[in-house]
Amino acid sequence: MNQADEQTTDDYGERAVDEDEQSRLVLSAHPLQRVGAYALAFLGKAASPEHLTPEAFEKAVKAVIDDAVRAALERDTKGENGFWLKSSLSFFPNSKMNHLSNAKKSDDVIRDAVRTWRTCPEPQVRPAVACVLCGRGAVGFFGKVDVPLAESDLYRNSTPRGHSGMALCRPCLCSFYALPYGCRLTGGPSIALHSWDERFMARTLSRRVERNRQCIALGRSDPRGVSAREVLALQALRHHDDRLAAGVDLLVFSNNNRGQTLDIQSMEQPVAEWLRRSARLPPRRRGFSALLRAHATADRPGVVGLARNAFRSPERIAGACGRYLTSRLDRGLIRDDTADLAELCFSLTIEVMRMNQNEVDEIRAAGGQVAAWLKAEDSAGKLREFNATLKEPKRMRYWLMRRNIDALLDTTGRIDGPLVTETQFRLLFDPEVEHAWLHRQLLIVSVVQRLHELRFKPEDRAEVASEMADEEKEHPEDIDYVKGEEE
Ligand SMILES: [Zn+2]
Repeated sequence: MNQADEQTTDDYGERAVDEDEQSRLVLSAHPLQRVGAYALAFLGKAASPEHLTPEAFEKAVKAVIDDAVRAALERDTKGENGFWLKSSLSFFPNSKMNHLSNAKKSDDVIRDAVRTWRTCPEPQVRPAVACVLCGRGAVGFFGKVDVPLAESDLYRNSTPRGHSGMALCRPCLCSFYALPYGCRLTGGPSIALHSWDERFMARTLSRRVERNRQCIALGRSDPRGVSAREVLALQALRHHDDRLAAGVDLLVFSNNNRGQTLDIQSMEQPVAEWLRRSARLPPRRRGFSALLRAHATADRPGVVGLARNAFRSPERIAGACGRYLTSRLDRGLIRDDTADLAELCFSLTIEVMRMNQNEVDEIRAAGGQVAAWLKAEDSAGKLREFNATLKEPKRMRYWLMRRNIDALLDTTGRIDGPLVTETQFRLLFDPEVEHAWLHRQLLIVSVVQRLHELRFKPEDRAEVASEMADEEKEHPEDIDYVKGEEE
């Protein structure tokens, strides 16, 4: 039965206004409420929570209750359609939906119990307090049976003395009831992607709700595995058409009986937007495949390593690119994908790490000169020698100074001017320069990039053995990611 409908049509005046408000979603500052509100909006076929009409809100709430009843009637989480019931354990533990005693109860008793649990308290029994999330009139106090993490330390401050839960209005409460539809359900902790970019939320949540509804219809969990929780964020970015206005948060949580857990990781907007563009824009796509190879290990797809680095620190992405691009220099070999990846690496330093364009240009100019010198020498041994100095700034400095003198004394005209100017030396070695270590790494990247352009193939390089082809085997997950296949 639909209380709010009855009251809005029967009553006039203040109470009708209040009741109308109790059927209108608003977005609060609580990430999980926001995820649930979007899920409810899509269940009601609206474009966003604000666009969900009270009528559509009631329909969506009814659909959520119907799914809960159907799941409860399964009684056994291992049953044919036990998926939704099992999921409920980590959102609404010990609720009427999944109570152990349900095994012995009749269908009617269970159905009534679930509906009663999900029915909004009558106006006369509602407390005269505001919803802690949106400030509108609360309909009651709700604890962990209704709201994931309601009693965890995170929200304890919002619980009034003497009450073991949060004061919530009906739309905010129903957002939590719809939360499972907006999460990636794993059987263990649930994963929610959140952002303050509303378009990203809409796009990502509509896909997730659709997927979960299919799972509910089929009665089983998503057969596509999750290799790593962080990868979900990369997948969502891969499918997002618009420029991101905010970063992306990954919330991994469980509300089950064994204890409440919440783990939050955040990816800053610049790196999220760089990843999105790099995975989508055609000129950057080739470099992106190389970026994944740079992050892959024998037993882990590159997309996992990349996603983790993106959440931890973009500097690690630059580090992985540098290591990959230089990994064959000891054999005098430059990788075929050097040009694409080096370009992507430079875009990272400018767009994400906020390096000054002039400084990057200086370092690339120095790299060009060093590459010209190495090309003239035509020696894999010399390239190896230079690369080895990266580990010791002093040695690199000495090596460059030495080559500077050689170049200045060179009368053959192979090199024009000094290898490294005073300004460039300062950028690379001055202790006052904040990112000197990164500049040194970028110097090597620019050297290999230029050598690649110059088709550097010294006589004394190693033969390209077939073992190298094996080394390059790509993980199927990475290939799918670049193609934009569904997770
Ligand atoms: Zn509220």
